Amino acid sequence: MTLLEARGLGKHFGGLHAVQDVDLDVHPGHVTAIIGPNGAGKSTLFNLLAGFYRPTSGTVRMDGRDITGMSPHRIVAHGIARTFQTTSLFGDATVLDNVLSGRIVRSRSTVVDAVLHTPRHRREERTNLDKAMEVLEFTGLTEYRNDLAARVPQEAQKRVSIALALATEPQLLLLDEPAAGLTEEETEGFARLIRRIVDRGVTVCLVEHRMSMVMSLADHILVLDHGREIASGTPDAVRTDPQVIEAYLGT
Ligand code: ADP
Ligand code: MG
Repeated sequence: MTLLEARGLGKHFGGLHAVQDVDLDVHPGHVTAIIGPNGAGKSTLFNLLAGFYRPTSGTVRMDGRDITGMSPHRIVAHGIARTFQTTSLFGDATVLDNVLSGRIVRSRSTVVDAVLHTPRHRREERTNLDKAMEVLEFTGLTEYRNDLAARVPQEAQKRVSIALALATEPQLLLLDEPAAGLTEEETEGFARLIRRIVDRGVTVCLVEHRMSMVMSLADHILVLDHGREIASGTPDAVRTDPQVIEAYLGT
């Protein structure tokens, strides 16, 4: 069974082929890692899957539905959430409000419900708050909930991004270099958090440079170079692939 299926995905920027003819199968409950040198097209691939870029070619199916070319908002509603390589929080808002913003996509009540404070709207607000508090607890951020997001430590800000994504109740979470800039110890904490996210029933796709983290977490690895797949398979298969060693691991 496949949760996300990309076929022949491509993205050009003018003459630059940032992603070219990429196939990807993400299986539910798995951690799929995407690795490759800088500029290989990893973030572009995430942008294609999450609807931030429209593919030049190819298709994306999520849970059996064709989501190719949909807007980011609609794709979140189809169960794909993402974090960004550089955190993109609302710095002037509290950690709690940042996480609550992830609930908007699940909203069923209308502006009229909100203005009239209908029972439906009040019920939804309570559910959203409960959900946000649960996600804050899960990511270890409860103590920071009333702090401005820009003021909490960098490592905690990265967890806020993950909490915001989890608040949308995704089936698939795309993490773009979640441990970039973190210490070894903090990185280990993130690896444990990602494992707990998978245990919670959320499938994870991970772009990461730290090979120790990739090798310990990933069930499946896709290696990109110059926008193309150069290898894919289990961590053991990829680790010993001569092309991968030459393009990436050997450097
Ligand atoms: P990675 O995340 O693997 O480091 P990216 O996906 O960010 O690589 O970039 C792949 C290539 O596409 C790079 O050459 C980058 O400069 C280019 N690129 C990415 N986004 C854009 C864009 N919006 N416009 C033009 N070129 C882009
Ligand atoms: Mg990138």
